[in-house]
Amino acid sequence: MPTTVSALVAKSAGASFERSTIERRDVGEHDVKIDIAFAGICHSDIHQAREEWGKAIFPMVPGHEIAGIVSEVGPAVTKHKVGDRVGIGCFVDSCRECEYCLAGEEQFCKKGNVATYNGREYTGEETYGGYSTEIVADENYVLSIPEGIALDVAAPLLCAGITTYSPLKHWGAGPGKKVAIVGMGGLGHMGVKIAHALGAEVTVLSQSLSKQEDGLKLGADDYFATSDPETFKANRGRFDLIINTVSADLDLDRYLSLLTLNGSMVFVGLPENAQTFRVFSLTGGRRSLAGSNIGGISETQEMLDFCAAHGLGAEIEVIGADDVDEAYERIVKSDVRYRFVIDTTTIPAA
Ligand code: NAP
Ligand code: ZN
Ligand code: ZN
Repeated sequence: MPTTVSALVAKSAGASFERSTIERRDVGEHDVKIDIAFAGICHSDIHQAREEWGKAIFPMVPGHEIAGIVSEVGPAVTKHKVGDRVGIGCFVDSCRECEYCLAGEEQFCKKGNVATYNGREYTGEETYGGYSTEIVADENYVLSIPEGIALDVAAPLLCAGITTYSPLKHWGAGPGKKVAIVGMGGLGHMGVKIAHALGAEVTVLSQSLSKQEDGLKLGADDYFATSDPETFKANRGRFDLIINTVSADLDLDRYLSLLTLNGSMVFVGLPENAQTFRVFSLTGGRRSLAGSNIGGISETQEMLDFCAAHGLGAEIEVIGADDVDEAYERIVKSDVRYRFVIDTTTIPAA
């Protein structure tokens, strides 16, 4: 029998969140049921709840930064047991047989993976995310959260952590490499911490200097305001890698001019508008403009273990169910330091 659980629901695009209930499927052979403790708020939740990326599925329960405790396991489950500290990120299933799934790059599954929310299971059922009290998922898409990281600061690692870790690793961030992180929000602040822990020289390119002190504390070596034209002169040709976490339109030619020979600028931010640039901005320095999308399951586990080994978690503000609408407004105004995390015990109606 499916279980009825409490959730925060947006009934239509841009609607306020309401306390309501959803059904979670019965725990199958390979499933684990998780008591959700914390759910991070990613800017992607806002894009989808407001239908900024195209048509979405409503009612919607967002949330793909989920941390909690296993409360039940199916008979065939081997990876997790009751009481384990676990997490779920951006997808809960994939085809498991395409070349990308077999290579552990399930985020690029050829059949299309099953998004944690605003998606459909391969059976056609809508998926509902982490702004809820419980979730049921296949054990292979559930991550282990190492003992060293508290669940509240671990939750944002399931998206913000892996989304920055994956391109930093792929493009070789490490000792001797100069990395710039554009935008110091949820993704950006994790990018700073992880790039620093990987041994790279890290520079933040933020709209203003208002978060400079924090940035330097989190591991940045340098911090510049992009509102100051001098920033683009001072850093011309400097960076091996620029990770862009901004979801607004940027003057890409100016950012590309900051890359050294063979440097790469990688988009993880997902603006709703098409972006433009002059091809000369690439050819002049054999530069690359690229994109990256979250990470695979094994890489996500590697990232969690890396963060535990380096004592890294997200900088968070824990909020209750009543504060989610306001948190969305604050994120859009770049007034977040640096991730809102919902205490899911506040979701059930009193
Ligand atoms: P966030 O917390 O809102 O951070 C974005 C940061 O961008 C802001 O804090 C701000 O930093 C900067 N910014 C905002 N508006 C700007 C503007 N008009 N011009 C320049 N900079 C601006 O968002 P997030 O959760 O980190 O997500 C960032 C983006 O990544 C979103 O588009 C999200 O959908 C996307 N995302 C992509 C993936 C993926 O796999 N590719 C995964 C997760 C999220 P400063 O104040 O420091 O400038
Ligand atoms: Zn996300
Ligand atoms: Zn696949």
